[in-house]
Amino acid sequence: IAEKAVQLDGRVEDFLRGGPKKLFIGGEFVESISGKTFETVNPATGKVITSVYEADKEDVNRAVEAAEKAFYGEWRKVTPSERGKMMWRLADLLEEHLEPLAQLEALDNGKPISHARAADLPLSIDHFRYYAGWATKISGEVIDSSTGKDMLAYTRREPVGVVGQIIPWNFPILMLAWKMGAALATGNVIIFKSAEQTPLSALYLADLVKQAGFPDGVVNMLSGYGETAGNAMVQHPRIRKIAFTGSTEVGKLIQQQSTGNLKRLSLELGGKSPNIIFSDADLSKAIPGAMMGIFFNQGQACSAGSRLYVHKKVYDKVMAEIVSRTSKMRQGIGLDELTEIGPLVSEEQFKRVTRYLEAGHQAGAEALIGGQPLDRSGYFIPPTIFADVNNEMSITQEEIFGPVLSAMPFDDEDDLTDIIRQANDTEYGLAAGIWTTDVRKAHKVAHAIEAGTVWVNDYNALDAAIPFGGYKQSGYGREMGSYALDLYTQVKSVWVNLE
Ligand code: NAD
Repeated sequence: IAEKAVQLDGRVEDFLRGGPKKLFIGGEFVESISGKTFETVNPATGKVITSVYEADKEDVNRAVEAAEKAFYGEWRKVTPSERGKMMWRLADLLEEHLEPLAQLEALDNGKPISHARAADLPLSIDHFRYYAGWATKISGEVIDSSTGKDMLAYTRREPVGVVGQIIPWNFPILMLAWKMGAALATGNVIIFKSAEQTPLSALYLADLVKQAGFPDGVVNMLSGYGETAGNAMVQHPRIRKIAFTGSTEVGKLIQQQSTGNLKRLSLELGGKSPNIIFSDADLSKAIPGAMMGIFFNQGQACSAGSRLYVHKKVYDKVMAEIVSRTSKMRQGIGLDELTEIGPLVSEEQFKRVTRYLEAGHQAGAEALIGGQPLDRSGYFIPPTIFADVNNEMSITQEEIFGPVLSAMPFDDEDDLTDIIRQANDTEYGLAAGIWTTDVRKAHKVAHAIEAGTVWVNDYNALDAAIPFGGYKQSGYGREMGSYALDLYTQVKSVWVNLE
């Protein structure tokens, strides 16, 4: 029930008016070649918001043609400084359109509007500004050779060319920004595919890309399904790289399907991240930190701290407090200003998480709170905390991607080996949290954990300047910071014989 639902911004109403939303190819909004469309649903109600044109292989081919035309034409003539300015302009436009974009995220994904306003959009804007700065700082080096000849040898960092970017539905605009920032700064051209559950904000943003002055074909936006449009991108011989964020399962598929054309890949995949509260932690920070770690974005975050390990000395106290605070969380539609936790993104995701709730009960875990889907329209799963779990249960091993926490006590404080072993007892390695006031313990555990990001006395902190990515089956490649530039450049050595 919405208590304080926002009035839709006129720009959102304008955007949604008219027929199906078109694809953005070569600077134009176009229908798909097949003419096929699909619907996008409001997860808070289960009702259709609008429909969008569905890209397929032919549309991918068309987008590649447009992208190549830009890459070998207009985009080449744009100086690094102008490129940076266009990116900065895009960030300014995002800021101007923050409210309609936040509303579209809340509508299409279900996330609380307050989170979209405070996190998704500001982080995306920062991201474009951060990489706008890099556009003028891509350089090679001059290297002395030992050939005995008078030789000038230097390197250039050149763009990869046409890059394909495929993202999930959990942070539609932010994942788009993570993908596009580094790719544009380094002079690539983009074929982007949104997730089929959340195509709207990317299409809204396409118009801002045009306004920012990017030449036609530099950014192409496709709406479509993974098995068709996504697969066509992976198979296309002239898309030279795929940057993928999504499930480990699909990441593996993409790796297999691209062996034939030896595409460069970067894969940001799933997680099952441990969050560890030691007995010396500042519990006034650790408790809300653990809750935010799992419940932020309805638990639909790759970095979700879904395995909570609490030292046995403070376990009962911590769990009682977490349950009490969780019981006060306001769950509702994303467009309600007061909502702290919204619905899951889709019926499919709702069913998947419901199955995990059943698996938890069946395995003998105790639900301290939640544990059953809500009996109302929309795809609502209440924040759920399972206790009495062990590392063998599917709810502690598999990525649930919902607001479901598995909590376990642990008891080795001085010898850290057992808690480190438990934290690493997963095929995933995306992120981890450690809560302690002991500096020695914090660094020791941080170094021993097999994960691409470790937060100490914090959780889910993100910054465009700080790299993010996985260990083990959470993928490879690092987005953000200077590291992402490597994903989108290739090094050329130039030898000049001066004799
Ligand atoms: P998904 O893997 O099902 O889909 C992700 C994207 O891949 C979608 O755009 C989909 O259309 C496309 N896709 C599906 N099959 C494809 C195929 N055969 N070829 C090409 N593309 C294909 O994932 P999801 O359910 O949308 O998102 C949830 C997953 O994303 C979770 O596992 C989560 O952990 C992960 N994720 C990871 C990060 C990270 O940075 N590591 C960030 C956010 C989400």
